[in-house]
This record gives sequence, structure tokens and C-alpha cells, in this order.
Amino acid sequence: ESDAKAFRKAFKVQVVGNDIPFPIGSFEDLITRFQLDKKLLSNLADAKFTEPTPIQCESIPSTLHGHDIIACAPTGSGKTLAFLIPLVQKLGQNQKNFGIRGLILSPTKELATQIHNELLKLTKGKNLIIGLLSKSLSGKLRSDLIKGNKYDVMVSTPLRLIEVVRMGKIDLREVKHLVLDEADKLFAPEFLEQTDDVLHNCSNPKLQMSIYSATIPEEVEELAHSVMKEPIRINIGRKEA
Ligand code: ADP
Ligand code: MG
Repeated sequence: ESDAKAFRKAFKVQVVGNDIPFPIGSFEDLITRFQLDKKLLSNLADAKFTEPTPIQCESIPSTLHGHDIIACAPTGSGKTLAFLIPLVQKLGQNQKNFGIRGLILSPTKELATQIHNELLKLTKGKNLIIGLLSKSLSGKLRSDLIKGNKYDVMVSTPLRLIEVVRMGKIDLREVKHLVLDEADKLFAPEFLEQTDDVLHNCSNPKLQMSIYSATIPEEVEELAHSVMKEPIRINIGRKEA
């Protein structure tokens, strides 16, 4: 407990909510506390991710604990792995044609591609099917060359996703883990309607939701709270030199 306090003070971490787990001190902590998949751990080591960053220390255990998360941490602080590690751990194995269980929304194609690349690194050698909803994949789904339900995880921008959802080519009813990255942009006026449409289509009552951003304006915070269940709020301040 005093370790957690010292850690939070040193890295200017604020965590608000009920039933908050202790931060991890290393990725290895996840083995004993959450039975972290060995393959996932070795993939982290292969990618030279040896020590978790502060946002990862806090949000990985909270997410694995089952909490909804609103996380605010500066650009470059490692938010991508903060949501991908628990996602990969929670998904476990491919469930043949069961349907998409993990969904990551990003405001831009470029960012979606980066997230997809990180996800491929983490799932290397694992039996999971990861999709990036590119123009080409969207075309294949529309012409029924590929079935949407073969994917365990899909990474997409809201617009591209909602197009295929509206055509009935992708079903979001089995989504259990939803991540909104750069949530301030996803909830900005230009994306709000599409993001909202995605949320409505993620109708699984057991949906777990995580929201990540470098800045979370008041109105986004309110919107987030209205669609989440007792989220844990994690805030990482800029570390002073
Ligand atoms: P953010 O989304 O917060 O802006 P990113 O997730 O894009 O930050 O991460 C920034 C960079 O830090 C990336 O190059 C990423 O690979 C690297 N990184 C993230 N976590 C770690 C870690 N635990 N150890 C080493 N490098 C990391
Ligand atoms: Mg990011």
C-alpha cells in the first residue's frame, strides 16, 4: 500500500473510484496477480517493452479487474499498450466465428494502423484473429468475400465501421471490450453521431469500456460517465524534471 502511494506521488498519478487495485511494478507482476499469458509476456520482451510506463502500471490491473476506465495521460506516455495488454489477456484464444469481442475505435486511419501494428506484435504466435478495417477489408466484407464474425478484434475509425455495421456486414453484439482512443476527438461534434451509433450497436450488457486521451474536456467526461459503469478515473500528470 505504501508502495502504491509512493508510486502515485512520484509520477503525479491520481486515481479516483471504488475498489481500485494496486498498480503493477513490472510486467512480471501480472503473472502472479492475473495469470498473464506466457506468450503475451514473451511478445512484450521481444518488442523490447521491459518496464511498464505509469499509465500502464495503473490501467492494466484496473482493466483486468473488470473496471471501466477513463484514462488521461500525455502524448507518448504509452496509452496504446495500456489498453492492448489487458485486451489481449482478456480475449485469450480465438473462438471460431463467434464474432468480434474486442473493438478499438480511433479517430484516424493512421492511428488505427499504428494500433493494429502494436496489436500484431502482442498477439504474435497466438491464436487470435485481428482485423484493421481498411478500405480493402471493408470492400471484402461488403461483397461477402470475408465474414466479419471471424475476427476476435477489430480496429477501425467510426465512419468506416458504421458503414459496414449499417449494411449488416459486421455485428457488434458480442463486443465485450470497447476502447475509445483519443476519445476527445471521438466525442467531438464531427464524430459524435458515428461514435454514438457504434456505442448503440455494442449492445452486450457485459460490455467493458475504456476511454483514453491526452485531454479530456468536461463535456467528454460527462458523456463518458453517462455511458459507463462506475468508471475508474486515472490521471497522469506531466512528470517534472
Ligand atoms: P500515447 O498513445 O500515450 O501517445 P504510445 O502508446 O503511442 O503513446 O507510445 C509511445 C511510444 O512509447 C511508442 O513508440 C511505444 O512503442 C513506446 N512504449 C510504450 N510503452 C512502452 C514500454 N512499456 N516500454 C518501452 N516503450 C514503450
Ligand atoms: Mg495514443
